[in-house]
Amino acid sequence: MAIPSNPSLSAKYMQLDSGTGIQVEYLWIDSDNDIRSRARTLMATEISVDTIPEWHCKGSGGDDLLLHPVALFDDPFRPPYGKLVLCDTYLPDGTPHPTNHRYHCQRTMSAYATHRPLFGIEQEYMVIDPELEKPLGWHRFPDPQHYCGVGTIIGRDIIEAHYRACLYAGIQLAGANVEVAPGQFEFQVGPCDGLAVSDQLWVARFILDRVAEDFALAITLHPKPMHEWNGAGAHTNYSTSAMRSSDNGLAAIEDAIERMSLRHAEHIAVYGEDNDLRLTGRYETGYIGAFSYGVGNRGASIRIPHHVAKQGRGYMEDRRPVGRNQGVSEATLGVF
Ligand code: ADP
Ligand code: MN
Ligand code: MN
Ligand code: MN
Ligand code: MN
Repeated sequence: MAIPSNPSLSAKYMQLDSGTGIQVEYLWIDSDNDIRSRARTLMATEISVDTIPEWHCKGSGGDDLLLHPVALFDDPFRPPYGKLVLCDTYLPDGTPHPTNHRYHCQRTMSAYATHRPLFGIEQEYMVIDPELEKPLGWHRFPDPQHYCGVGTIIGRDIIEAHYRACLYAGIQLAGANVEVAPGQFEFQVGPCDGLAVSDQLWVARFILDRVAEDFALAITLHPKPMHEWNGAGAHTNYSTSAMRSSDNGLAAIEDAIERMSLRHAEHIAVYGEDNDLRLTGRYETGYIGAFSYGVGNRGASIRIPHHVAKQGRGYMEDRRPVGRNQGVSEATLGVF
């Protein structure tokens, strides 16, 4: 049984002054793609991304794992002074951990920096009631199509708390909306460069998990939690300076899509586990086995938004990626 939290009791302690110490929560991504964190007290003079000391934790094999601070945020759970610091991970010999994808991302982003790439990622998710072992609102037969719905939405307090907490943290949260299935929501991060969007997306996921904890609920980013309903993607909106240019930006977009079409299988291979359950060609997805694109087409691998086609420049939306595959397994949910 879930242990009930007691917000007013907690508030009594959270009002206490933390003295000269500053609480810093170190965040890192483990080898299962779950986020983990531990706290440490630092002095105010140590608080900048360049001066926060490295730390360590126990890796999955039991060996020490080195935590290297890369991005600093305000901690919405320990206002006003607490900080969150996202770290990437290294082995004791100083080489990047095999699952430290950020290390490679950084190299790729600096190699192509002259193209000024921008990313905006839409993270869809489902709120799970651990008592019911079902998404929120599925205690009765769900009403169809809650997309951007108003009036009967269960769980709106979670997206509101998350939205505000992300803005407080300093995340460039572009927006949030209610999604198609009951208990399903979305937030967007960006547009910003490849490293910033990834760092901020991970911290936004951390904040979402923590907000859900406060509500004694859980979050899943699984691509297809419910049969015969829209799954959860991480649509990735992408542009380069050429694509944003009024000098034939649309041609640059079409050229990139053409080249992406040749590497569909390679991309699918790294776009997330269990994606085959989602990319069926139904429920606003493009079929996993074939590359497709179209203007305003939500049933394609890649969509060029209508306003982009009309203006002749802008960005494309890759609808294939999913978020981390974590949290609630097929067995736990029992609803596949
Ligand atoms: P959808 O219509 O697919 O639901 P959203 O409004 O949810 O789209 O998300 C669109 C995303 O595109 C936002 O995260 C936004 O930051 C991002 N975006 C806007 N302009 C650009 C651009 N030029 N390059 C990359 N991403 C962009
Ligand atoms: Mn210990
Ligand atoms: Mn969206
Ligand atoms: Mn969506
Ligand atoms: Mn989208």
